[in-house]
Amino acid sequence: MGNEILFADDDPPMALSNDGRSKKGGREEGGPKESGRNDGEPWTILVVDDDKEVHAVTRLALGKLHYKGRPLKLVSAMSGAEAADILRTTGNVAIVLLDVVMETDDAGLKLVRTIREEIGNHAVRIILRTGQPGQAPEEDVVLAYDINDYKSKTELTSQKLFTTVISALRAYADIMALETNRRGLQQIIQSTDRLFELRSMQQFAAGVLTQLSAFLRVKPDAILCARRGESGDGSLYVLAGAGCYAEAAENPHSAIAPNVADSIAEVFRTRQSVYRRNETTLFIRVPDGGEVAAWIHTDRPLDEVDRGLIEVFAAKIAISFANLSLYEQLREANETLEARVAERTRALEEANAKLERLATVDPLTTVWNRRHFLELAAAELGRARRHERRLSVFLLDLDHFKAVNDGYGHAAGDEVLRTTVARARSALRTSDQIARFGGEEFVVLLPETDIEGARIVAERVRAAIADGPVDAEGHAIPVTASLGVAEWSAGEPSIEHTLRRADAALYEAKQSGRDHVCLAAL
Ligand code: GH3
Ligand code: MG
Ligand code: MG
Repeated sequence: MGNEILFADDDPPMALSNDGRSKKGGREEGGPKESGRNDGEPWTILVVDDDKEVHAVTRLALGKLHYKGRPLKLVSAMSGAEAADILRTTGNVAIVLLDVVMETDDAGLKLVRTIREEIGNHAVRIILRTGQPGQAPEEDVVLAYDINDYKSKTELTSQKLFTTVISALRAYADIMALETNRRGLQQIIQSTDRLFELRSMQQFAAGVLTQLSAFLRVKPDAILCARRGESGDGSLYVLAGAGCYAEAAENPHSAIAPNVADSIAEVFRTRQSVYRRNETTLFIRVPDGGEVAAWIHTDRPLDEVDRGLIEVFAAKIAISFANLSLYEQLREANETLEARVAERTRALEEANAKLERLATVDPLTTVWNRRHFLELAAAELGRARRHERRLSVFLLDLDHFKAVNDGYGHAAGDEVLRTTVARARSALRTSDQIARFGGEEFVVLLPETDIEGARIVAERVRAAIADGPVDAEGHAIPVTASLGVAEWSAGEPSIEHTLRRADAALYEAKQSGRDHVCLAAL
């Protein structure tokens, strides 16, 4: 085939601009957005034919074509094998213009199988161009092979080639957009899954910015703002920042560029995302009524696919924000509750300890009270009985104490009681237990002590109490005490029996002139 066939019947291609524009330049397609050529990545067209002439005329017909602002790049292969090699290493071939009869009668058809089945490329558009239609009848081929168009070289004029290629490019672009969409959605699902694991609002907000920039494949210069809700004053505050706004969350006075602040304000005012050439500001309405705006710098205007995906991302994020805010409220409520429970527990423990002290200790002198003493003594008596040990007690009664109260007042009397107890304690061993038995009478329990040992301790206590006057309320008050000592005898069923004998000895001490120690008879 030759020029005359490819260009048969039709005007030259460059005169065929159907919008009347650009009769000399390349063609462009699309609305006003695509009208300016941006010379982006070219569309790769692989021409596979063993006839050099075909390559030349194809290049002539398509070489200057632009579609969606992107030029065409024509790559030539002279055989099916060469084409297969190119396709194995080049991922972004949009169209294969494929001859059928080359190194073999069905080299082109074999290549179709290789592309679809072995290489697994289902996106590339394959246009079969055959010079010998009898060799590969259209109906059979279209049914048997995964091709997208079938043209006989004789019908393929320059105009038809143009139309065919543009249609194929449009289909390829759609497929790629779908694929990008699919990958984007997958990424959204993955990234939001990861975001769900973040449990603090700050962490989550920072995660949103990271995912957003990864998603748009831009270096993150970004900021995420929220508006103070109903309880607040509606003012804005930064939840998270990245890149040049990394410090913005910690430092509320850090400067935010006026254009960024304007975009964020606009988003909150219009409640709609704003897309500008190099920046995107997302509006995120959180189901609990809150509102969030995410501003991000982009190095390009976002296309329809990006925008669609970003809106899906925003919707998913909104739900996460609501969940998180509920979670935080719950956690705060929980923490308050826990703190309150802890405080109540502490108060209760304190009250219990106080009660315990009140139940066992005499408040004036801080020694055991009578009730607790009797418990201790009963336990000690049990031990003495089990281990056949000795056990003694003595009773101690202040002498003429009524006269102290009468002479110096009740407060002085109290002071004398406290000092007396302190003096008695200083003369006791740590294993001895002292308790207030009532009024100005005290009792001491002496484990593992016989009557002779008890007499020595009692004498020491008596001497300590009588050791000089007590200073009370500005008076020097002389104090003495009388003591009655008794040793528990194995025949006595309770300590009360022993105490009764000690009381008798105490009476005897009083009788013998006070400031005395007397021993009970068995
Ligand atoms: P005796 O030598 O015979 O024991 O004479 P006494 O005055 O010590 O004995 P009496 O039993 O007549 O008096 C005891 C006094 O102790 C009567 C009471 O008012 C006083 N008293 C009892 N408990 C307290 C107290 O907690 N504080 C003060 N200040 N006085 C107390
Ligand atoms: Mg007394
Ligand atoms: Mg008394």
